[in-house]
Amino acid sequence: MKHNFYAGPAILPEYTIEKSIEAIRDFNGTGLSLLCISHRSKDFDKVMNSAVEMTKKLLDIPEGYSVIFVGGGATTQFYNIPFNFLAKKGAYLDTGTWPSGAIREAKLWGEVDVVASSKDKKYNYIPKNFTIPADADYFEICSNNTIEGTEIFEDFDSPVPLISDMSSDIFSRPVDVSKYAMIFAGAQKNFAPAGVTMVIIKDSFMEKSVRPVPTLSNYKKLAEKNSMINTPPVFPIFAALKTMEWIEAEGGVKAMEKRAIARADRVYEVLENSKMFVPNIPDPKDRSRMNITFAMKPEYAELADAFLTLSKERDCVGLAGHRSVGGFRASTYNALPMESVDALVALIKEFEAAH
Ligand SMILES: *Cc1c(COP(=O)(O)O)cnc(C)c1O
Repeated sequence: MKHNFYAGPAILPEYTIEKSIEAIRDFNGTGLSLLCISHRSKDFDKVMNSAVEMTKKLLDIPEGYSVIFVGGGATTQFYNIPFNFLAKKGAYLDTGTWPSGAIREAKLWGEVDVVASSKDKKYNYIPKNFTIPADADYFEICSNNTIEGTEIFEDFDSPVPLISDMSSDIFSRPVDVSKYAMIFAGAQKNFAPAGVTMVIIKDSFMEKSVRPVPTLSNYKKLAEKNSMINTPPVFPIFAALKTMEWIEAEGGVKAMEKRAIARADRVYEVLENSKMFVPNIPDPKDRSRMNITFAMKPEYAELADAFLTLSKERDCVGLAGHRSVGGFRASTYNALPMESVDALVALIKEFEAAH
């Protein structure tokens, strides 16, 4: 068995893979592949409606919100948000590479207020005690910093519409959706193959588009047409639905949270007590449950390559840190079984004992 620690595209439940294979062979007993049928067919319409309904159910989304599925990655939302909503000023919390990408795009459309940044310490913490400007058009955060390994667990009270990039921690814990004007998540970290991004958006917020935008950038039109203005990414939406069915069957996002805590606690504990390794994120409260970043202590730095070599021999795949950070990263998404966490812990202990 391979232990898959890739950050994205990343591990999916076996259920999602199996159901996808079935549907690619013969979708719903139609005798046709899911890949080869019209997105306007009744069978696919049902998939789209179920994906919307399941998202609402799993995240307990209140009335007055729409769920849409759009092509392109989460990065498309980096520009689409300011395009639609930045009239004068967008406020941002700069906690890493992904949010700084969103900030860069927003500057194309107007003033950007970086409310706080952890760039001074290579994004190894979540800034605290910042004030969200009441005159901003919106406040955007990234709840889980996939590359650096920090996570925001709080659903902030914001005086302006709150937006969160939850690409890498969506469905890993309950979220108070009522606090957000918009949540978006690229699929390939925690729920489906690449190619689709989920957008949860408050209906009253999407009315507020501040300039004319092209049809496919228009959230309201996308919502009205049930994400089918043009051909949606049919296959990843199907796979997303299967993952959501799996999450529900496993006990929902509360159960996912429990497992995420158990996985992360186990790995961080081993790293904390290691003579050789050290977690990148010093404050336990800021540490991501989804992307555990760590490094060799300086005195063992020359052993980094040897660790990655052994990890491959022990079937632990995808442990190299992001190229911009270096070191190591164990992504421990929803579908990762405890068995794989055990394998990682055994790998670390074996390596330490050998050196
Ligand atoms: C991966 C990632 C993105 C970018 O997603 P794409 O689908 O590649 O555009 C954005 N935000 C976060 C938090 C991510 O992890």
